[in-house]
Amino acid sequence: MQFLFKLRSKGVTDKRTLTAMEKTDRALFVRGHFADRAYEDMPLPISCGQTISQPSVVGLMTQALNVQPRDKVLEVGTGSGYQAMILSHLARRVYTVDRYKRLVTEARAIFDAADITNITAFTADGSHGLPDQAPFDRILVTAAAEDPPGPLLAQLRIGGIMVVPVGQSDAVQSLIRVTRTDTGFDYDELRPVRFVPLLEGIGQD
Ligand code: SAH
Repeated sequence: MQFLFKLRSKGVTDKRTLTAMEKTDRALFVRGHFADRAYEDMPLPISCGQTISQPSVVGLMTQALNVQPRDKVLEVGTGSGYQAMILSHLARRVYTVDRYKRLVTEARAIFDAADITNITAFTADGSHGLPDQAPFDRILVTAAAEDPPGPLLAQLRIGGIMVVPVGQSDAVQSLIRVTRTDTGFDYDELRPVRFVPLLEGIGQD
């Protein structure tokens, strides 16, 4: 309860987002050393030198994405799998990709143990999207790009929404919401954030 209260106080007010986050136990995704800090509103280290994002930022991104029950969603940056599991409670199907095989394998094991059947996790360079599964109703990028990647814009359905942190990796980035219209793209700047960079290619770990 305290966890939800904290999320609300940081601006996560959308009821469906809060319900999906209530169903998704963050402690499943944080192991070892940091397990007892799973309910604190801070990013924490996971395998492969990556991080599980801060819960309030996960909530704000999820609510900005405004996922509908029939939606097919792409997440770039599986990391721990926490964000993907939250999305799985809101969408029809979630595709999630990470450049580290080890993270994908660990996340899949958590999804299986929780009997979540609408997430497909792949090892891939997500900056190219997933052309075979496109178009997507929603795309969420959880690593910072210098610009919204062209292939991801191209794989967004008309009327679709993409949320992506944009900016240089060592500086403060801006969370951007891109909406695809009949004629182009509308951009809204939501808030400053700090994410690990979107890197090219497959990771070696
Ligand atoms: N959404 C995650 C946190 C993501 S951390 C969670 O809920 O825990 C960012 C992740 O993006 C890292 O795991 C990193 O490996 C991944 N990443 C960075 N560049 C990528 C790329 N080009 N394709 C796929 N994944 C990428």
